[in-house]
Amino acid sequence: MLKLFPDKSAGQQAPSNLGAAGAFFTWGFNPWRVLLGLTFVGLHLLLDRESVVSRVWVGTDAWYPPAGLELALLIGLGLSYAPLIFVAGFVTSMVNYHLSPFGAIIWYVNVLIALSYTAMAAVLRRYIRVDGILRSLQDVFRSIFFVMAATLALAFGGSLSFVWSDKISLHHYFAAALNWWIGDSVALFCLSPFLLVYVTPWLKAHLTGGTPFESKKLFSDADRWSKPRDLGNILEFFAQGASIVATLFVALGSRFAGTYQLFYVFFLPIIWIAVRRGVRGATAATLMLNVGAIFMLRIFPQSLNRLVSLQILMLIVSVTGLCLGTLITERNHADRELRESEGRMQALISTIDEVVFEFDANGIYKNIWTTDETLLIRPKSQMLGRHASEFLSPDIVEPILKIFQEVLKTGKKQSVEYSWPLPVKTWFLARVSAIPSSDGRPTSVCMTARDITTSKLAEEELHRTTQAAESASRAKTEFLANMSHELRTPLHGILGMTDLVLDTALTSEQREYLEMVKLSSDSLLGLLNGILDFSKVEAGKLELENIEFLLSERLFQTLKIMQFRAEEKGLELTWHSDAGVPEHLIGDPARLRQVLVNLVGNAIKFTERGEISVQVLARELTQQTAELHFRVQDHGIGIPRDKHHIIFDAFTQADSSTTRKYGGTGLGLAITKRLVELMGGTIWVESEPGHGSSFHFTAKFGLVRTPAPVVPALLTQGDTL
Ligand code: ADP
Repeated sequence: MLKLFPDKSAGQQAPSNLGAAGAFFTWGFNPWRVLLGLTFVGLHLLLDRESVVSRVWVGTDAWYPPAGLELALLIGLGLSYAPLIFVAGFVTSMVNYHLSPFGAIIWYVNVLIALSYTAMAAVLRRYIRVDGILRSLQDVFRSIFFVMAATLALAFGGSLSFVWSDKISLHHYFAAALNWWIGDSVALFCLSPFLLVYVTPWLKAHLTGGTPFESKKLFSDADRWSKPRDLGNILEFFAQGASIVATLFVALGSRFAGTYQLFYVFFLPIIWIAVRRGVRGATAATLMLNVGAIFMLRIFPQSLNRLVSLQILMLIVSVTGLCLGTLITERNHADRELRESEGRMQALISTIDEVVFEFDANGIYKNIWTTDETLLIRPKSQMLGRHASEFLSPDIVEPILKIFQEVLKTGKKQSVEYSWPLPVKTWFLARVSAIPSSDGRPTSVCMTARDITTSKLAEEELHRTTQAAESASRAKTEFLANMSHELRTPLHGILGMTDLVLDTALTSEQREYLEMVKLSSDSLLGLLNGILDFSKVEAGKLELENIEFLLSERLFQTLKIMQFRAEEKGLELTWHSDAGVPEHLIGDPARLRQVLVNLVGNAIKFTERGEISVQVLARELTQQTAELHFRVQDHGIGIPRDKHHIIFDAFTQADSSTTRKYGGTGLGLAITKRLVELMGGTIWVESEPGHGSSFHFTAKFGLVRTPAPVVPALLTQGDTL
């Protein structure tokens, strides 16, 4: 964005509508504004008088500087200065043209001019947004077109006053209007831009106490004014000034000027200065040329004909200078933005510490950014323009090229890992994304490559360690499984023999001892079974069966056995099944039984009095599957909330004192949990110490499509076993 006029944000903005015109008078108390007002009126008067002197046509001028002054004031400082335009015009008409303040003409001309310029400035500021910023050459073109059209209307309206006041005849009205138009236009395209670039920002900052000349930074960065004042630059500066003087002399004062039309030489310094110094240089040079031309005209008067062509040429030169200057500044600005974005990119790359490549679709290096060239296979200069396959082996290049094609086709980012056998094997993570193009079809990709060797090695090490740990754990589990299996065989022998001996005639003492041997062996067998099951589950060797069974039948068999144990402790065991629970299931009834035996066994173990209930609910039923919800509730000692999770871990108990009191190994729930998970369900507990526990688990079963004839239900809801 090219700033030509002061930024709105530079200091306090003057009210910008005509309704706020009164603000000017309230400001009158500010001495700076009074000074500005007086200076403006004085300058207006002088410049108008100057143009009267250099008049080329009755009532009109070679150029009319006050017009440039007026527009610059309204755009640069705000529309509230409109009354000042009127006042200055009015005073000028009285002093320079001796018009009576009571006549209609003076009011007509000055109201017309003040209103026209205010409207022009309002449109420029609001619609073309020339409020300190000429965004592009396009803005300049639009401004030129609009200003020329508006001034044309004003010139034809204003020139009526000459006819009205009998200064010219109706016959000359058209020529006078045309002259007014061009004279005003020259001033608007040469003096206004100059003032808006150099003067009004400074004035505004001074008047409002705001930051001085915010837009200056943009200009100075974008053109050569800001370049260090080296000798070459200073010499060029003077040479450019001299070229203006020389062309003025050649075109207007030299011997040839009388013979040839040499005005076109004016273009030479303007083009030179605009190209080298952008819009700031162009506005200054155009003004210098125009002022110089007026002076030369006074020293070397020209014929009327030549004056008219000079006037038109001055307009063209001014417009050319403005356009060219804007174009150059715009380009400089774009260059600067480009350099800045390059700088930003470099900074970004240095912070992310990655090499960034740009490849075309075929895999040719178009650009490489890195802060450390040693990371590259070859120096950057050798790689640019060459194909990736010249440096990387086919097993790396081929998958990468395939990814390039996919990324260009889909526009989606992709990443790939590859290793490079540098002196030591180095791993890279490459991330590829398409570089957007103006026509929406990307033709090149951006690839970042990050050295991930350290994390890769760590990952490999971790993998190795995990593998080792897993195989060690497997070996241990297998050992446990084998051991418990081996231990069970002699134990069965002991149990069998004990039973046999117990059937013979024994003394009461012998019987008592043998009963204890049997009890101990039984509990040892239970423990071994638990360890065997657990190791099987851990080793992933436990597989579930998938057979058809009748749920209520299995429950009855299981809970019947448990009932004896419950009754021994004086507890009541009840069963309740939801009406929707299907009867014919496919699954592993033995493992379901094991889960229930564990949970109900615990409930009996940890309950001293009261009821234990088992409830089955249908959770989710489909055509082929049934998810059932089981609940085992007791009125026992309960489990503290913070222990709810750990009791499902192997060898963990809610309270170590329970081991002493109730026995157990802490394996039951761990096995139960894994069995439930194998059945596609989850297990959880709701419990408070002293308020009993509710163990819940879900399990998934298959459904039998055409169930075999049903054996009459062994249990009905609410039955007590
Ligand atoms: P254990 O062989 O010790 O019973 P479990 O894995 O079956 O091993 O249970 C682990 C722990 O969970 C028990 O030691 C006990 O502290 C707690 N627990 C399990 N069921 C109940 C219950 N119904 N009431 C109270 N505490 C229980």
